[in-house]
Amino acid sequence: MSVLVFVETLEGKIQKNAYEAVFYGNKIAGGSGVTVLTFGDASNDDLAALGNYGATKVKVARAIKTLDTLALTKFIEEEVNAGGHDVAVFSFDPAGKMVAPVAAAKLKAGLVAGAIDLPDTSDGFVVKKNVFSGKAFAFQQIHTDKKFISILPNSFKPEKGSATAEVEEVSTDFNSGKVRSKGVSRASTDRAPLPEAELVVSAGRGLKGPENWGMVEELADVLEATTACSRPVADIGWRPHHEHVGQTGIAIRPNLYIAIGISGAIQHLAGVNGSKVIVVINNDPEAPFFKAADYGIVGDAFEVVPKLVEAFKAHKA
Ligand code: FAD
Repeated sequence: MSVLVFVETLEGKIQKNAYEAVFYGNKIAGGSGVTVLTFGDASNDDLAALGNYGATKVKVARAIKTLDTLALTKFIEEEVNAGGHDVAVFSFDPAGKMVAPVAAAKLKAGLVAGAIDLPDTSDGFVVKKNVFSGKAFAFQQIHTDKKFISILPNSFKPEKGSATAEVEEVSTDFNSGKVRSKGVSRASTDRAPLPEAELVVSAGRGLKGPENWGMVEELADVLEATTACSRPVADIGWRPHHEHVGQTGIAIRPNLYIAIGISGAIQHLAGVNGSKVIVVINNDPEAPFFKAADYGIVGDAFEVVPKLVEAFKAHKA
């Protein structure tokens, strides 16, 4: 099978999601290598290093600087048609969520969004994904000639080989000449982006108001963790929307997830129940989150969190 993989780079850097998508695509290709499409400013050396995960060729559209859905869709459309690719793989990250459905519709390809395993080709082309907030699996068969898949970040561990991909700079900017989005800007932060974070400190409505997030930030700082929040907190505007985790937010799989003043509703758990270790701090011993926790602290966050900060600081000193 001829496989194309689309990846996003962030501020000139290749993200873990990209390695996963390339490795996954190469597995579908039976190890024969994939063509990767990307855009932006990543260095040619970094792009060539995608060869370690199965890329044989990387085509980069330097003129596309932002998540310009129309330009990127055109780029993918032209490459799928010219290269005769059977399968296109994306990460189920913000770029993949924006671009894959539009490109699939244009190319009349069937799309499974959020796959968690390799397709089963023993009888058709069947892709496994989570449904009902991670409580069940669906096995979806793609019947169209062209098959598009986006994979859920952190559901496939890439193995690093030692090969170098050929990098080709594609000169056209794929301007559609019609309506053109100006891209999406991201909030800048020096912490790991949530989908990649190994340590996450998250808080919910139990914190009472945005003025109380100082202690959450402090705990995140001392642990060098990324901050997250429940959906209502982002909806009310206490925290930015890009921190919202859960069914309708970002799905994360850190090594450690600390949930402070979050009840543990099923829609929240859907985005965090892949975490290796979950620590819950809640003053209600009946809070549902305790059922999903590896460690639980029943107590007032306003007493517990400052003590944890002190203890971690002392441990580091
Ligand atoms: P609450 O439910 O109000 O819980 C606050 C918790 O803080 C309580 O357990 C309380 O005991 C505790 N608390 C209070 N005071 C303290 C204190 N001093 N110290 C310690 N603990 C304290 N939610 C998400 O998070 N992510 C999603 O993606 C998401 N998607 C949704 C999609 C749909 C279609 C729907 C219907 C809902 C969705 N929700 C989502 C909302 C979800 O159902 C819950 O309403 C939400 O997760 C609750 O947020 P919370 O835990 O911060 O607030």
